[in-house]
Amino acid sequence: MRLQFLSRFTASPALRRAARAYKNAWKRFYFWPLHALRKARFEKLGLDRRMPLAIAAVNLASDCKCRHTSHYVPLSRETIRELTAGNDRKNVASLFGATAAVIDLDTFANFDAWRVQVSRATSGKYHRSANKARRMGYSAGIVGFNSYHRSVYELTGSKFRRSKGLLVWAALIAPPASLVDTKKPPVPPVCLEHWRYCWGAFKSTEAGEKLVASAILIRTGNVVWIQRFIGHGDALKDGVTKMLIFDIMQWLLARAEPGTQGIRYLLHGSIEEGSTGLFDWKRYLGFKPMLLDSASPS
Ligand SMILES: [Zn+2]
Repeated sequence: MRLQFLSRFTASPALRRAARAYKNAWKRFYFWPLHALRKARFEKLGLDRRMPLAIAAVNLASDCKCRHTSHYVPLSRETIRELTAGNDRKNVASLFGATAAVIDLDTFANFDAWRVQVSRATSGKYHRSANKARRMGYSAGIVGFNSYHRSVYELTGSKFRRSKGLLVWAALIAPPASLVDTKKPPVPPVCLEHWRYCWGAFKSTEAGEKLVASAILIRTGNVVWIQRFIGHGDALKDGVTKMLIFDIMQWLLARAEPGTQGIRYLLHGSIEEGSTGLFDWKRYLGFKPMLLDSASPS
């Protein structure tokens, strides 16, 4: 009897409306900082957060029979889930979740088309920075997975504060002796649609090459997402991160290697995450807020 009474009680439209208003008020209060950040950043991009956003039809190619499917597909799905959490509206940015930062690679015929856009957005600053790094003896290329473990640890700890917050542990604790640079060469991917590539930027010195920036890209179907992108604190002013992203974009947009063909989207976290510096970096490189739709077969 009591339960019946309760169910009648909660079935009352007025009470349901009040409960919904209460829940939304709390959600708004809790998500207000994120909401304010989104509003400001969307305005900087010349967008209104209430306007419909472009939709990225993500296809993770999970029907592939390769041995990487069981690893990269769930990993990518998890990343996508984080970027679509709270996305209860179909065509506008979510109120209570982050918005994916995406470059639709199909909008660029080649690397030059992208580079011209970046130069326009930065008055040539990024291009000049990348060229400065090259002149100073830096270079970038694909390296073997985890082949610079120790160097990555050291460059992670080269700055106390990173664009996504504090990374004190690596700055305070010396790398364990077991962490070594094996410098293993890269292995070609087994599957062209599911792979992980590590990129490194190096400074040539008399003692040899020193790793100064590192990036990890994961491809799953028609999406490539940036799992890591980090530079050494001392080398940032030389433009190494600009050089590294320029080289990665040249490789992706050349579409010369079979593994780089058929990639539609480059995903780099969210518009709302991190410092203003990180947001500006994405904005200048052409990352835009997009809604990820993985409802299509994936
Ligand atoms: Zn595969």
